[in-house]
Amino acid sequence: MLISLTVDAPRATVDAIVDAARATGRQARVMPDGRGGQVIGLDAPIGADLLGLPGIGAVSESHKPYMLASREHRAPSVVRVGGVEIGGGRPVLMAGPCVVEGRREMIEAAEAVKAAGADILRGGAFKPRSSPYAFQGFGEEGLKHLAAARAVTGLPVVTEVLEPDQVEMVAEYADMLQIGARNMANFPLLRRVGATDTPVLLKRGFSATVEEWLMSAEYVLAGGNPNVVLCERGVRGFDPLVRFSLDLNAVPLAKELSHLPVIVDPSHGTGKRSLVPRMALAGIAAGADGLIIEAHPDPERSLCDAAQTIVPAELARIHRSVMAMHEALDITREDRSPVGTGALALT
Ligand code: PEP
Ligand code: MN
Repeated sequence: MLISLTVDAPRATVDAIVDAARATGRQARVMPDGRGGQVIGLDAPIGADLLGLPGIGAVSESHKPYMLASREHRAPSVVRVGGVEIGGGRPVLMAGPCVVEGRREMIEAAEAVKAAGADILRGGAFKPRSSPYAFQGFGEEGLKHLAAARAVTGLPVVTEVLEPDQVEMVAEYADMLQIGARNMANFPLLRRVGATDTPVLLKRGFSATVEEWLMSAEYVLAGGNPNVVLCERGVRGFDPLVRFSLDLNAVPLAKELSHLPVIVDPSHGTGKRSLVPRMALAGIAAGADGLIIEAHPDPERSLCDAAQTIVPAELARIHRSVMAMHEALDITREDRSPVGTGALALT
């Protein structure tokens, strides 16, 4: 059940609902609605008498299995990473190498992507490689290099966490925790990042439906962490000429269904550097709140994902084009139709 509270709802109303839920062994989750009020998500309906309390707005027995991630009763969310706002209107650019390659290398890459317009620095210290023999990343040492690059450039850092037991350690260094495509449905990991308040970048699994992706976001939100950003990074297609196929439908679809910001990863979404600039722009045209792009001062020497990694000069061109295109787009966030009134019928 989803209960929307008016802006002036008395504290006593919130407490009464939360207490009633807890008294029956259920959970109540109170979250801001993005409009100055709050919403309460309940595992199970509460007594009708409570629904007459002052400050109660719309009530729905939400059938969506992702009621906290749902757009219902909610304005679009803004997630803050360091000083950077994602979902605030201005497209955000995250960039850096696939993998952290050393302290000097990381600082050099960070300075280059910052000069190209990046707002947030990316780099993997723990890498989910398909082969167990491929380079797995520098681990905690790599996190230290990322922190050093942040200290030099001021850029907040996003990096992947692979295992539940690593979450607190990675969160000590990172401003945003990336859950990779291969871990989108790792529920123990999602619960663990949900127990922190560090922003989470949740990549879509490459065979996951949009609903499955939103349910994974729900695990994090239900754990009490409201700071989730979704990332479309391509799905498995049938054409061996590309590594993955960026599913641009998923961007406006996820934004219609959910209040969470959505960004696009044209690097993994193509696997091919020549396709990255156009697909980055396509992502922004599709309504993305930002991009995450693999860039390296010398892409051919990247220790991971070289074929899709671009040079900083290309990143700068993308940044300029993205900003110009964003200005030119006459489709605002408010144009999104509310869930349930469009042609969408997800069951
Ligand atoms: C990455 O960002 O380097 C990465 C491994 O991404 P994904 O989980 O989308 O494959
Ligand atoms: Mn990569």
